[in-house]
Amino acid sequence: MSSPDFNYTANKNHTYDAIVIGSGISGGWAAKELCEGGLKTLVLERGKNVVHLKDYPTATKNPWDFKHHGELPIKLKEENPVVNRCYAFDESTEHFFVKDKDHPYIQQKPFDWIRGYQVGGKSLLWARQTQRWSKFDFEGPARDGFAVDWPIRYDDLAPWYSYVESFAGISGNHDGLETLPDGEFLPPWEMNTVEKVMQQRIMANYNDRNVIIGRCAHLTKPKEVHLAQGRGQCQSRNLCQRGCPFGGYFSSNSSTLPTAAKTGNLTILPDSVVHSIIYDDKKQKATGVRVIDAHTKQATEYYAKIIFVNAAALNTNLILLNSTSSRFPNGLGNDNGLLGKYIAFQNYRGSLSARMEGYEDTYYYGRRPTAVMMPNFRNVHKQETDFLRGYMVFYSATRGGWGHYTPGNQIGAEYKDAISEAGDWGVYMMMQGETIPKETNRVYLSKEQKDEWGIPLLTVSVDYDDNDEKSMRDFLQQGAEMLEKAGCKNISPNDSKQAPGLDIHEVGGVRMGHDPKTSLLNKWNQLHSCPNVFVTDGACMTSTGTQNPSLTFMAITARAANYAVNEIKKGNL
Ligand SMILES: Cc1cc2nc3c(=O)[nH]c(=O)nc-3n(C[C@H](O)[C@H](O)[C@H](O)COP(=O)(O)OP(=O)(O)OC[C@H]3O[C@@H](n4cnc5c(N)ncnc54)[C@H](O)[C@@H]3O)c2cc1C
Repeated sequence: MSSPDFNYTANKNHTYDAIVIGSGISGGWAAKELCEGGLKTLVLERGKNVVHLKDYPTATKNPWDFKHHGELPIKLKEENPVVNRCYAFDESTEHFFVKDKDHPYIQQKPFDWIRGYQVGGKSLLWARQTQRWSKFDFEGPARDGFAVDWPIRYDDLAPWYSYVESFAGISGNHDGLETLPDGEFLPPWEMNTVEKVMQQRIMANYNDRNVIIGRCAHLTKPKEVHLAQGRGQCQSRNLCQRGCPFGGYFSSNSSTLPTAAKTGNLTILPDSVVHSIIYDDKKQKATGVRVIDAHTKQATEYYAKIIFVNAAALNTNLILLNSTSSRFPNGLGNDNGLLGKYIAFQNYRGSLSARMEGYEDTYYYGRRPTAVMMPNFRNVHKQETDFLRGYMVFYSATRGGWGHYTPGNQIGAEYKDAISEAGDWGVYMMMQGETIPKETNRVYLSKEQKDEWGIPLLTVSVDYDDNDEKSMRDFLQQGAEMLEKAGCKNISPNDSKQAPGLDIHEVGGVRMGHDPKTSLLNKWNQLHSCPNVFVTDGACMTSTGTQNPSLTFMAITARAANYAVNEIKKGNL
């Protein structure tokens, strides 16, 4: 018979006020807010530890320092057909990406699931583009009759956008647009000459379209709040995905996690794979989590008053689906059978390339971690096309490679002159389209196959639909027209036909809503039927919008975590 004392001690040692599952962008924010709110907080992270500065092995390497000069060996590419399709996966960054064979999943339909399993998650790998949602995005589902109504509106989130922007450091221009509200900005990046010319011409030709410089999580001019985090000015190296030794861009590792640690309330356990959440039928609440050690495979349990699930959208679905009990036989909080359903993503299939003649006497200095963007202009005030919702547009203009040489000048002084000149101006334009969440786009657990930690494999069944095709065709047509009006030549449209997932903006499955019959989470991100479990990563999203999602995950997380702290203080949780 086990000793009650022994059990009591084990329980006590493993007991915290709050548990956060995952240490990426949203988990980092949950940890910071909960720790600052005075809660002893345990962050469980399945991947290895990555300490800011210390664990960025390639951050200061030159191209010639790499064995393959930055290129991936063919064998590695062949072994990783999924992650290899991500533009950021190369010899300098591959250690931060999940390799295909290490973490299998089942593609019922093609889905490129791009993951980063380490302390910091994908916050080390992201492209740092950050735009607020507008009131139109929150109103979209109710107005256009898809998904369910969001239980929050822009005004609920606006103060929290300001809160996370101020801390993370977002560069941008105050553009005064209803479709892309301004935030707390550090100085913006600049457009180059050709981008400005295009901006003027596009805006002169369309009174419903705005062209602005991209907003991104880079410290163009750090403030005291950023310096206090140990971060410094962005050096425009554009080597961000290796980890930034300057802390020039926002990551959990450089910003939220060290701030959480400073409170003395943070415990972070890497190599801890969360298997499931424990639900106590008698107490009628979640009491903790089951964890498998990533290496020894030993099982442990940890306990807390509240649990934040921030494992990134699809893994959060997986954990909840795997959290079964007699009260919740189909997954935690899944009374309505909708857990894992209404997954959505963003449509990146359409792009255009073109040339801009002239401007050979103008150049630009250095690198820039953002592009030019156009907030969505389709179906903003009312439904006006044959497809629902719209798309954001990004474009950039760059000069081609050095080397205007011809067969006649490949030697001597003429050759040297030729390679001292930049190439012609090229223009690239792409879409970031909203997709409509559907019940048929879903994830579920395999009944037969498990991973090496004894957790069922996730099956992904997500696809484009007719709406996405129409939206893409509209972008290709509108994009070509805008490029033509901007003075571009050789306009060439492209449908990449890439699988969903490669956008890396997957959301949904545990959506927010007013009604427990049609949604999983309430307006504070609590599971309707298990309110001491909060889901604040992409899984909570009721719809996708056209904006890059992570800033919204941050704001939603900070809002929910502060609510949780207050509720605990009031004795309600
Ligand atoms: C190349 C690239 C470019 C991107 N560009 C942008 C961009 O410009 N703008 C933008 O908004 N977004 C961008 N994204 C997406 C962005 O990275 C994600 O939206 C964001 O990181 C999601 O935050 P998260 O906290 O939900 O998940 P993550 O940051 O992925 O963190 C989840 C963490 O949970 C851990 N975890 C998972 N399962 C378990 C488990 N069972 N137990 C314990 N821990 C677990 C993971 O290891 C991971 O550390 C980009 C992503 C990539 C890869």
